[in-house]
Amino acid sequence: MANRRDFIKKTALGTIGVSTVFSCKEVTKEEQNAVASTTNSTPNKPLIISTWKHGFPANEAAWKTLNEGGTGIDAVEAGVRIPEGDPKERSVGYGGLPDREGKVTLDACIMDHNSNCGSVAFLQGIKHPISVARKVMEDTPHVMLTGEGALQFALSKGFKEENLLTPESEKDWKKWLEKSKYKPVINIENHDTISMLAIDNNGNISGACTTSGAAWKMHGRVGDSPIIGAGLFLDNEVGAAAATGLGEAVIRTAGSAMVVEQMRMGKSPAEACKIIVERIYEKHKNHRDMEYLQVGFIAINKQGEYGGYSLRSGFDFAVCDTEKGNRMEDAQFKMTWDAQ
Ligand code: ASP
Repeated sequence: MANRRDFIKKTALGTIGVSTVFSCKEVTKEEQNAVASTTNSTPNKPLIISTWKHGFPANEAAWKTLNEGGTGIDAVEAGVRIPEGDPKERSVGYGGLPDREGKVTLDACIMDHNSNCGSVAFLQGIKHPISVARKVMEDTPHVMLTGEGALQFALSKGFKEENLLTPESEKDWKKWLEKSKYKPVINIENHDTISMLAIDNNGNISGACTTSGAAWKMHGRVGDSPIIGAGLFLDNEVGAAAATGLGEAVIRTAGSAMVVEQMRMGKSPAEACKIIVERIYEKHKNHRDMEYLQVGFIAINKQGEYGGYSLRSGFDFAVCDTEKGNRMEDAQFKMTWDAQ
């Protein structure tokens, strides 16, 4: 495994264009399988992990930021801005599916290794809520701004207001209005948050989480993603965790904070995610949400171990490290979609 000196050497080589510089390359299916079977085996840093397939290009951007000397917080912000700005990503930022009134409302939060954090919720018209969340963290005495106040703050910081409802999302919304039935189908209709966790070259942990939230939600609904402790939590002494899935269930259980507490008590990241998913299942097995409940967590610890686990099948995450490059891994899960 490369140590800090190797990484710096590679970064320096990269600046003069030598081809041996490490990059976040795509790996083959065989390599992915080998990686999946060795999850958690080797402590390593730097490390970036993020939810779903949109995590793959996001990891590349985050890794590039680290390669160029950026900190962990720079990396997670740069990483999640990729799906935020991509109109083809229907669950994050620009192009995200709207609420039942046809409004794209965005939630995001960011947290650094000193436990500084910033968050925006129910923000409209700003393509990169994660960058507004970072400004809340750095330039205000608060942690969280919402709605109109968050928008006015963003505008005062030079963010541009724009229409985030793409023609495709508008078409889907109009189709949804025909029946107007609210039944979230997370990870089937590609409605999924990006959460990203990173350990930078100094061993410092950062995290970011950003989403357009549950499609067809009530106007004003805020999910877990901008809530520190629910959608994202970290303790630089211990590790970090982030969530995706039905935000209401994650809020009810303080999901990400609980995953970090499990790691504090000695569980591996994968074990910690599993324990909290099991807890969420126990709390919800007779709940009306159970019919469509999906939750997934990713986690990393201070040693650079990582893991993920979901209630139902279909959750995957992107991992990038010096040794093995960027790859997708399937999370283990408790049940398939038809089982309860
Ligand atoms: N957690 C997000 C929310 O409830 C949605 C998702 O991850 O799909 O807003």
